[in-house]
Amino acid sequence: MSKIQNHQKVVLVGDGAVGSSYAFAMAQQGIAEEFVIVDVVKDRTVGDALDLEDATPFTAPKNIYSGEYSDCKDADLVVITAGAPQKPGETRLDLVNKNLNILSTIVKPVVDSGFDGIFLVAANPVDILTYATWKFSGFPKEKVIGSGISLDSARLRVALGKKFNVSPDSVDAYIMGEHGDSEFAAYSTASIGTKPLLDIAKEEGVSTDELAEIEDSVRNKAYEIINKKGATFYGVGTALMRISKAILRDENAVLPVGAYMDGEYGLNDIYIGTPAVINGQGLNRVIESPLSDDEMKKMTDSATTLKKVLTDGLK
Ligand code: NAD
Repeated sequence: MSKIQNHQKVVLVGDGAVGSSYAFAMAQQGIAEEFVIVDVVKDRTVGDALDLEDATPFTAPKNIYSGEYSDCKDADLVVITAGAPQKPGETRLDLVNKNLNILSTIVKPVVDSGFDGIFLVAANPVDILTYATWKFSGFPKEKVIGSGISLDSARLRVALGKKFNVSPDSVDAYIMGEHGDSEFAAYSTASIGTKPLLDIAKEEGVSTDELAEIEDSVRNKAYEIINKKGATFYGVGTALMRISKAILRDENAVLPVGAYMDGEYGLNDIYIGTPAVINGQGLNRVIESPLSDDEMKKMTDSATTLKKVLTDGLK
């Protein structure tokens, strides 16, 4: 990890709505002593660094500055949020060609700097771009992590928290699969206070149709937000902060992310959303959820959707 003990350095590439929200979340939480911002729009990174440093007297001392790819050399973590966002009506998979081109101009100079830390990727379609980061970088799979279904799982916990009148952080539930239209709620594995969610739903008269509506609303929440305000950024910015914290504080935290599959769920050579253990070395291991047969089929179908994009777009 860090060359200087207790001094951690993060480089953010892509200082748009998502990147700057992530930077703000990191400043708020006082995570990482050094935070570098890189973007093709240099002025924006200079302005954002100046703006963000004004938050640090209220949070924690931090050196925030506009930088270059050479700054990745001794970084612990490089977070990629550069890329076109969805326009109203566009799916995440529609962004693939545009954002693969952008990604290819980023990963090479990061690696050429001598960087040997961890990549965290959030640009969409995130499962494809995480796979591409892994391929382009030549890094071990543990050191390339996608934000995957992190945000989607947060959205599910929010929705279930409202439905069952508990705090969302007391809901243990995951969206799995693609961060996109083929994702699904793994309800059979969900619980509240150790009690299976499906049992609670039965007891409280919440029908399977209502659970399916919640799953749909989660799947479509990004579209709803994009239609109303043009982009989504606070949720994902905070999700990226949470994953960064687990890495930089070597937490061994179990988090929903995008992980490389090496036989888990019968899948290989693909990045897809699942719970996994995250620590200072990156992705320590996938926690393979005991999915129902129906959910397993959804996982396989979601992987097939992603594989097709990988085959057409990358391989
Ligand atoms: P944005 O347009 O506000 O910001 C994108 C930034 O990338 C801009 O500042 C742009 O200058 C920069 N950029 C473009 N090409 C670059 C390059 N070659 N090198 C460096 N920087 C470059 O977009 P946004 O709303 O911040 O979204 C960014 C990405 O995050 C999109 O792909 C979006 O779909 C994705 N996203 C992911 C999630 C998730 O859960 N994973 C959620 C929301 C958005």
